[in-house]
Amino acid sequence: MQFIETRGNDGSRPVRVAFSQAILNPMSSFGGLYVPEMLPDLGIDFLRRHLDSDYKALARAVMEAFNTDIPPDVLQRALDRYDHFDDPAQPVPVVKVTDDLFVSELYHGPTRAFKDMALQPFGVVLSALAQARDEHYLILAATSGDTGPATLETFKNQANVKVACLYPDGGTSDVQRLQMVTEDAPNLKVIGVHGAFDDAQTALKSLLSSDRFHAALRERDTRLSAANSVNFGRIIFQQIYHLHSYLELVRQGAISLGDKVYLNVPSGNFGNALGGYYAMKMGLPVEKILISSNSNNILTDFVRHGRYDLRGRQVVATTSPAMDILKSSNVERVLFDLFGAERTRELMALLDEQGHYQLSDSETARVRSIFAADFATDQEVETAIRENFERGYLMDPHTATCLKAHHNCRDRDLPDIVYSTAEWTKFSPTIAHALTGEVDANDIDALKSISQEAGLSIPPMIAALFDRPITQPTVIDKQDIEQEILSFI
Ligand SMILES: *Cc1c(COP(=O)(O)O)cnc(C)c1O
Repeated sequence: MQFIETRGNDGSRPVRVAFSQAILNPMSSFGGLYVPEMLPDLGIDFLRRHLDSDYKALARAVMEAFNTDIPPDVLQRALDRYDHFDDPAQPVPVVKVTDDLFVSELYHGPTRAFKDMALQPFGVVLSALAQARDEHYLILAATSGDTGPATLETFKNQANVKVACLYPDGGTSDVQRLQMVTEDAPNLKVIGVHGAFDDAQTALKSLLSSDRFHAALRERDTRLSAANSVNFGRIIFQQIYHLHSYLELVRQGAISLGDKVYLNVPSGNFGNALGGYYAMKMGLPVEKILISSNSNNILTDFVRHGRYDLRGRQVVATTSPAMDILKSSNVERVLFDLFGAERTRELMALLDEQGHYQLSDSETARVRSIFAADFATDQEVETAIRENFERGYLMDPHTATCLKAHHNCRDRDLPDIVYSTAEWTKFSPTIAHALTGEVDANDIDALKSISQEAGLSIPPMIAALFDRPITQPTVIDKQDIEQEILSFI
């Protein structure tokens, strides 16, 4: 399978590239993204063949259908990463909450957030490809919380890859910060930056456009890659669990093979939702994909009105911080799929230059034939957490944003698969507040009170964080980042 570019080709690079090229070097012409040239058919026949497949067998079959240039032994090692999830036989449990509400739990990996679903196998693949080419890569990450820990965890001690991870000092939860600053592998560097997430993010962007920095990397024989969801190497692994969750509903007797369901995705950068979109295109029986947001509800507007408008908007901090995003990168891949490269390039140029674009009525109708959307305020999120807890299910604030769309966006009486993207342990102060009214608790106190209230034990990898030595104490000013990274590599 070959990969092409969402904004067309600028003549300075190949029109088609292999999977390995698209993931090692994810930047494409005109600032676009790589997408598969065509999608395999993973419809009813494929699903029927995999009714009894476990997660890894299904994953292998999906990856093989994409016919990438990852060597089979590397793919096997990549998928073996799912053996380190809570239950290797069932890395993604799907839990029935009510007759029409099922929660697909994507957070049973090492860092307790759904980023592990893709980053765990992705780390093995990227490192193996780098070794095969005898090349050295630097991954730069700016994180507001979940991507950082998951990126560090997957690449730790992996050959030919180094990671430098920037986080806003004081801008993450205690658990997220400890997950980063207690990592001690020699190929990892964690840097706290004075300021907010935007400062860390802006510092990273100016580094990426600095000629001096690139020259210094060349001198050190190091190339840059990316581990965020602009990299198709992450998206490819995010299609699998949509198929798996559907098959789980069949296995649980909630639906028959061929029946339609809703997929309900708490969305930020739209990687998770895009995986569902591709699964639907490949033949998964999906009625609609529900896009759930928090008060940063730019995607709600986009789906309902075909309008993407950044003007006058600022990111607001919510209790679901991994979704505090206005520029949602993977929407571009849907635009390309629906409207082609020329139109995508035009729309993305409008967004970059004027801060907004408006789809035509017929384009908007196409978007609305596939997606529906709603958003939840922090208050609504807390209510959803409390109500679901009272009927026996504990969910994190990101997952809880989905309940609004669950109630408002289904035109048909079909089951809804809500994706749970984080464990309760990662956002415990918000959950403690929802359950007990406790205010301003720090993470450890909130963890203890939820654990008591809900009768759940704190998982060992979270409990252990509070006793581990801090091995990555660096906290610096923005202007010192470049020097810090260069001395690291
Ligand atoms: C990253 C993340 C999201 C958003 O996922 P996207 O694929 O970027 O839309 C939602 N919830 C949690 C907990 C996350 O870490």
